[in-house]
Amino acid sequence: MRIGIPAEIHAGETRVAATPETVKKMLAAGHQVTVQTGAGAGASIPDAEFEAAGAKLAGASDIYAQSEIVLKVRAPAADELARMNKGAVLIGLLAPHQADQVAAYAKQGIAAFAMERLPRTSRAQAMDVLSSQANIAGYKAVIVAASLYKRFFPMLMTAAGTVKAARVVVLGVGVAGLQAIATAKRLGAVIEASDVRPAVKEQVESLGAKFIDVPYETDEEREAAQGVGGYAKPMPQSWMDRQKAEVAKRVALADVVITTALIPGRPAPVLVTEEMVKSMKPGSVIVDLAAEAGGNCPLTELNKTVVKHGVTLVGDPNLAGSVAADASALYARNLLNFLNLLCDPKNGGAININREDDIIAGSLIAIDGSVVTK
Ligand code: NAD
Repeated sequence: MRIGIPAEIHAGETRVAATPETVKKMLAAGHQVTVQTGAGAGASIPDAEFEAAGAKLAGASDIYAQSEIVLKVRAPAADELARMNKGAVLIGLLAPHQADQVAAYAKQGIAAFAMERLPRTSRAQAMDVLSSQANIAGYKAVIVAASLYKRFFPMLMTAAGTVKAARVVVLGVGVAGLQAIATAKRLGAVIEASDVRPAVKEQVESLGAKFIDVPYETDEEREAAQGVGGYAKPMPQSWMDRQKAEVAKRVALADVVITTALIPGRPAPVLVTEEMVKSMKPGSVIVDLAAEAGGNCPLTELNKTVVKHGVTLVGDPNLAGSVAADASALYARNLLNFLNLLCDPKNGGAININREDDIIAGSLIAIDGSVVTK
């Protein structure tokens, strides 16, 4: 198949959907690959490396017009989408929760596969871009916090006296939260963490952090905490109120708070209120990884680092993009694994949209002029 890799034009996006490594593998599977000139610049991949891997270079117009399959990081802008051919395939983080965006894919007559919609199954793990990118964001959140925080993370015993270890609170312990705990632990912090899902307690403790226990009191709370398909559901207000009281005590003592709590397709739950921010020590840091979904703290400002009530709040929605080379390498491998499912090299590499396959069916959001309803 003719596969195209455009440069990302979304403001601040540094990642690219293929690397020389994945280009070689796509060529070996019998595809032709064209990369937009300069597409790898943000991820430190020069055009020459793509060419050496066997890709052709071209401008954006040619790539969109000539490709049967387009690999992207971000959802295309209207003018990018308008260049795609009817029947072409688009694969990327396509914002499936934005109805107008999904309707635009259908209108253009393309087959759109949103990587946000992959099922959380073992078979899909190698394609799971949300996990690979959240892992990086969790790591980088701690690095950013450590660099903004004006004290040490580890406890230090020196001739000049002892410095206490930083107290880190992690709210939301999915992929990003677990990596944040592991990274903060390596830096020597003392960590406490909260999540709605009961399975998380053991994972938190195995990383050497303390779980902020908020026991369930009703069947409704227990049922909601199980989530759906590996993702969280909104918790009943009764549990949220008790969690808030427990979290407030920890946040008041914290030097760094990292929030990652997300519920797919909904605004992020508010876990750190303005009152809690006011209770924090001056110089404390909050990194809100849920900024793009409205934030776990109402004081977070998207795309900005601000200081409020003496606390620094980081609202960077794309921390993975600040580790662009590795983020692209992992993202590109995820997409290659998805591509190999869609275009099985063992069957000649032609596109086969097998809607009996849960990964294909789960991620397909528009095809043949229609939005796919689940
Ligand atoms: P996510 O990014 O959607 O959410 C982050 C975390 O926020 C989740 O752990 C969620 O439970 C938590 N959260 C939501 N509301 C909250 C609240 N009110 N208070 C506290 N925490 C709250 O989640 P994710 O990181 O993508 O993954 C969620 C789970 O799915 C994890 O257990 C992960 O290990 C699992 N997973 C499985 C697979 C797989 O099997 N293929 C792949 C990826 C993730």
